[in-house]
Amino acid sequence: MYKRVVLKLSGEALAAGRGFGVDSDRVHEIAGEIAEVHAMGVETAVVVGGGNFFRGVAEQAKEMDRVSADNMGMLATVINALALQDAIEKQDIHCRVMSAIEMHEVCEPYIRRRAVRHLEKGRVVIFAAGTGNPYFSTDTAASLRAMEIRADVLLKGTKVEGIYDADPVITEGAVKFEQITYMDILRLGLKVMDTTAVSLCKDNNLPMIIFNLNQPGNIRRVVSGEKVGSLVTA
Ligand code: UDP
Repeated sequence: MYKRVVLKLSGEALAAGRGFGVDSDRVHEIAGEIAEVHAMGVETAVVVGGGNFFRGVAEQAKEMDRVSADNMGMLATVINALALQDAIEKQDIHCRVMSAIEMHEVCEPYIRRRAVRHLEKGRVVIFAAGTGNPYFSTDTAASLRAMEIRADVLLKGTKVEGIYDADPVITEGAVKFEQITYMDILRLGLKVMDTTAVSLCKDNNLPMIIFNLNQPGNIRRVVSGEKVGSLVTA
């Protein structure tokens, strides 16, 4: 169904139940699912978050200068990217980490044309360090990279089945949207992504699917075009 996808994984997804750090078993499970999609011939790029280590807006950073705190958050995403790269390579798949903040000894710098070339050659690409700028999120980085590499869709894995009219974890009877527009997400103030990420997708007609990452096989289902999660269109 989709030829080139960007998958956004939050840092939390890699921490699994621990809430902090990287859960090795979970990272290997996710790598296994990425391998399934890769075997289907889908060009796969991943954007990883860093919230399992540090967030610029977190309580622990409240005394810090925001730019320094965000730099820490971006570096946290690089740690996650390296963990995921290792697990993907264990699946015998070539995988490159490209960072928006240069650190040559650790990974490649992000260069758009090179990223596209990696994908064309069948390598999985992990985009690290968000956009490389403070005051942004890795959701915004995911929409930006998806546009830059002309991905067909942005896939965002979460803990719930999709987008609801209220937080389904706390509100009983919250209703799931099968399909919704970016405009309605903004208008209803739904907490799916930050507004910068939502606006960017809206202005550039990028479709997004929000789905439950904790349901095994879901990444494959989503890229195969099965009706999983919530579809967001411009
Ligand atoms: N961050 C940033 N610029 C970016 C992306 C991320 O400054 O372009 C910082 C920001 O402090 C953020 C942290 O990195 O809180 C981790 O990213 P995010 O919160 O998006 O991770 P997730 O919630 O997906 O794990």
